[in-house]
Amino acid sequence: MIDFSQTKSQFHLPEGVIYLDGNSLGPMPKTAVDRAREVMAGEWAELLIRGWNKADWFNLPGKVGRRIEPLIGAAPGTVMTGDTLSIKVFQAVSAALQMRPDRKVVLSDTGNFPTDLYMANGLLDRLGPEYELRVVAPEQVADAIDKDVAAVMLTHVDYRTGRMHDMMDLTKRSHDAGAVSIWDLAHSAGALPVDMEACGAEFATGCTYKYLNGGPGAPAFIYARPDIADSIEPILAGWMGHAAPFDFDLDYRPQIGIERMRVGTPPIIQLAILDEALRVWEGLDLQALRERSVALCEQFIEGIEARCPQLDLISPRSADKRGSQVAFAFEHGFAAMQALAARGVIGDFRAPDVMRFGFTPLYIDSDDVAQAIDVIADVVTTKAYSAPEFQVRGSVT
Ligand SMILES: *Cc1c(COP(=O)(O)O)cnc(C)c1O
Repeated sequence: MIDFSQTKSQFHLPEGVIYLDGNSLGPMPKTAVDRAREVMAGEWAELLIRGWNKADWFNLPGKVGRRIEPLIGAAPGTVMTGDTLSIKVFQAVSAALQMRPDRKVVLSDTGNFPTDLYMANGLLDRLGPEYELRVVAPEQVADAIDKDVAAVMLTHVDYRTGRMHDMMDLTKRSHDAGAVSIWDLAHSAGALPVDMEACGAEFATGCTYKYLNGGPGAPAFIYARPDIADSIEPILAGWMGHAAPFDFDLDYRPQIGIERMRVGTPPIIQLAILDEALRVWEGLDLQALRERSVALCEQFIEGIEARCPQLDLISPRSADKRGSQVAFAFEHGFAAMQALAARGVIGDFRAPDVMRFGFTPLYIDSDDVAQAIDVIADVVTTKAYSAPEFQVRGSVT
């Protein structure tokens, strides 16, 4: 059992806001402010350069990794934090290709987040014309895994629709065909239980500013299966991943294990905030979290379908094929989302017509969902979204 009122009390949620966008940017844990102040005023200001040793800044990326491991079913010492998710995807794809030098294809799907595809493509393009990024429809992935495929790179939960791949099954199929398996857990870590050890995939990546509430631009993470970590030759051979960074050797020699996935100097203030945010997860039963997330999603789907027939559910109807978010297509989706935000219900919009709502039991309860349904039904039935102020687009949607 989780006391969800207790977890909710640990977050700052602005007055009058029902926040259904924690799948894009989690809210701030209240203690993050004190932690940031402590790192700035107590450590940076007072310790200066000595902070790397005295406050153990140097080891913070791995320490934060240790906090993420239990959330994704990973063994201790298999997760490293740092950089952005785009960078971590690039590292994983490169490492996977090194493991299958005879194969030239990376397989992914059209449900993947574009940056994952761009990063893979950027690397493959430069490796040579015989390399190929093969992108198929999500339902076609299983059949497209053949003996040419070096790596199967998928995002577990589709960022737009919430559709969830069967991680166990697709990892097994990848391995049966001799391919390496890479999972992007951007919409899984902190949203539902994941078991890296049981699924046996070689690599996983994810970000920490969504369900893990690490704050805007919080460092990403990468997992490598422990039996392969020591054979990775990092494409981004940065000095922080060197076996002895302070020897200032002219030659690169990777550190043992996952430490070699470090690149450059870590963002200590942001990492400390993330470290603090991850404390909320200590001892939480992820199965109980998942059950609550499913209940909230079902309540939302049922309410919206009953009251807003103009909206079409594009997320899987079956909870076991869906992550922790629900998406509806609506031709006035952009303006409607703006109108909702003006009334304190925050979700987000994804082109061309997708209204996306994230359900995060740590700080969203069923009263919030009921109120959100009321507001959405009102905005849709009164066409409040037609007001001119809701048609203007900012640079981030
Ligand atoms: C959010 C998200 C990203 C974002 O990548 P950044 O490098 O952190 O900007 C990448 N991939 C997926 C699957 C995502 O959901």
